[in-house]
Amino acid sequence: MIEIKQVSKVYRLKNREVIAVDDVSLTIEDGDIYGIIGYSGAGKSTLVRLINQLEIQDSGKIFVDNQNLGDLSSNELRKLRTKIGMIFQHFNLLWSRTVSENIELALEIAGNKDKQERHSKVQELVDLVGLTGRENAYPSELSGGQKQRVGIARALANDPKILLCDEATSALDPDTTKSILDLLLEINKKLNITIIMITHQMEVVQKICNHIAVMSEGKVIETGTVKEIFTAP
Ligand code: ADP
Ligand code: ADP
Repeated sequence: MIEIKQVSKVYRLKNREVIAVDDVSLTIEDGDIYGIIGYSGAGKSTLVRLINQLEIQDSGKIFVDNQNLGDLSSNELRKLRTKIGMIFQHFNLLWSRTVSENIELALEIAGNKDKQERHSKVQELVDLVGLTGRENAYPSELSGGQKQRVGIARALANDPKILLCDEATSALDPDTTKSILDLLLEINKKLNITIIMITHQMEVVQKICNHIAVMSEGKVIETGTVKEIFTAP
């Protein structure tokens, strides 16, 4: 379970402050597919980066499985981050490395020194995301959907319990978006991974999210099930 309690994050620029996340409280249950929606600049990315502590809040507390992230040592934080996978709008792959190498790097960075084990894990992930046969391709040789499949495989390399998706389908056409959402659903069910989806695409949340938070100007202005949010009273 992820509990965000009265969390605020302020960016201090030269001549002004931006309250990117403003006193947000949220609870996300294990196994959920949780959508965070809102216009550009609403604070969605910042909120998600707070969950893996790529940003540190100015106030408030965040608990993952009852662990207060503020109490973790830098070593423990590094470990936590390997248990939280992340995928991105523009995939963030290394362009000079193959599909396999992009995925394997995540295992190496996490400290896996067993080459044999890394290779079998990479193959397992390649098969899971439907890229069997494309192991030696470079990102430039792949379609957008295939690139995102590599991103997903890499994010799953260290067996995370949580997958953070930042506009993961925003750069994809509708058919490809559907196939990526189907894959995320399969991963959620098969691996019992909690998925948090940032998106501005309503059709994405309606297709796969169970719960939603709506953000505006740093605040969560509404939470509920998809039905509650999208059904007129
Ligand atoms: P969203 O993901 O909903 O588009 P963000 O979390 O990216 O929103 O941004 C929220 C606000 O914080 C915006 O006003 C944005 O300009 C500002 N912001 C985000 N990241 C930074 C940063 N690293 N430095 C300064 N301001 C930032
Ligand atoms: P998309 O095809 O999703 O629009 P982009 O072409 O915008 O993705 O690239 C996403 C990121 O990858 C950008 O940060 C960009 O700098 C980087 N990138 C794209 N092409 C290359 C390349 N040939 N070599 C190195 N980095 C690249």
